[in-house]
Amino acid sequence: MRLPRFEYYQPGSLAEAVTMLSEVPGARPVAGGTDLLVNMKHRVEQPAALVSLSRVPELAGVRSEDGATVIGGSVTLTKVQHDEGLRARFPALTQAASVVGSYRHQTMGTLAGNLLQNTRCRFFNQSVEWRSVRALCYKAGGDYCHVMKKEGVCFCTYHGDTAAALLVLDAEVRVEGPDGVRQFPLAQLYSGEGKVPLTLGAAEVMSAVVIPNASATNGAATDAAPATDAAGGGSPAGGSAYLKHALRGAIDFPIVGAAVWRNGDATRVAFTGVDRMPMRAAALEEALAGRALTPAVIEEVASLAPKGATITRTTVQSGSFKRELMSALFTRAAGSLL
Ligand SMILES: Cc1cc2nc3c(=O)[nH]c(=O)nc-3n(C[C@H](O)[C@H](O)[C@H](O)COP(=O)(O)OP(=O)(O)OC[C@H]3O[C@@H](n4cnc5c(N)ncnc54)[C@H](O)[C@@H]3O)c2cc1C
Repeated sequence: MRLPRFEYYQPGSLAEAVTMLSEVPGARPVAGGTDLLVNMKHRVEQPAALVSLSRVPELAGVRSEDGATVIGGSVTLTKVQHDEGLRARFPALTQAASVVGSYRHQTMGTLAGNLLQNTRCRFFNQSVEWRSVRALCYKAGGDYCHVMKKEGVCFCTYHGDTAAALLVLDAEVRVEGPDGVRQFPLAQLYSGEGKVPLTLGAAEVMSAVVIPNASATNGAATDAAPATDAAGGGSPAGGSAYLKHALRGAIDFPIVGAAVWRNGDATRVAFTGVDRMPMRAAALEEALAGRALTPAVIEEVASLAPKGATITRTTVQSGSFKRELMSALFTRAAGSLL
């Protein structure tokens, strides 16, 4: 499968990148390219120009700023998962980074690219030939949603791994564009709409992810990177964990991913793969508010996990299977923090 033609720009600073994105018609940022270039090969995204962020120094590195941890947007998933400080303080994030796609996706793919990846659907993420046997779906430029069987809607699902982990860590994203810098909670990055899933402006660059010190837990870093369906990290009193279930352990998007953060009696839970955006599990968190996590409490509330998620058949798995997975993954991830 070949890439379509496009112009290529390689700015050497963040200001230059923003200027190029503002001035070059149809330009899009590209980081590792592991999401965008595949979509371009499928002709579901066709930017006229790509602005590479790989040589923008402001997007590199992990640092501390007033106690908060600031991870540059272009830090690769491999670097995230092997950073000792992140592993000790934010195990859910490093576990999520370690189960993204395959080794190659992790070495090329960046944290910002992971958060900003497009939503997915079995009718959208296909080659031109595959899609040509039926009318173009709404997201690909047609009128009709083959999942919902109606016009003018898109329920493409968000499947990124690190977003769920960063949601339970109360992370914010820092974005720089023609109008300056803004920083806002990660949840506000997602529109909740399948066709245009992000709230980022066309000329805006995500420069960093910011995790507050209050979300750090003091558990020891685990040496072994967790395999799919295996996680856990933190001290007995707190910690965080990310668990994912995928069809193929070696290389695959999550069918469902679950992140849990706990500190004393405070618990946060988030899911990915279950709606048009990654989501905090409001009903579960409400049921857990002010309660110590125990096996009995986890069992009591687990059935609330799917509440609030609009699960559609954008993958071959059924909604009922995904709902069961949400409860099961929550139970195991929360259980690993006891
Ligand atoms: C076979 C396969 C399996 C995969 N499995 C998984 C998986 O299991 N879990 C998972 O989460 N993902 C998976 N992916 C998706 C992808 O590999 C990862 O999400 C990766 O982290 C994307 O990062 P990237 O740097 O390559 O992004 P890119 O492809 O470069 O960019 C993705 C999007 O983000 C935008 N972008 C990138 N950086 C910035 C920035 N700093 N500011 C503004 N916009 C930006 C781009 O314009 C583009 O729209 C898979 C992909 C493939 C092809």
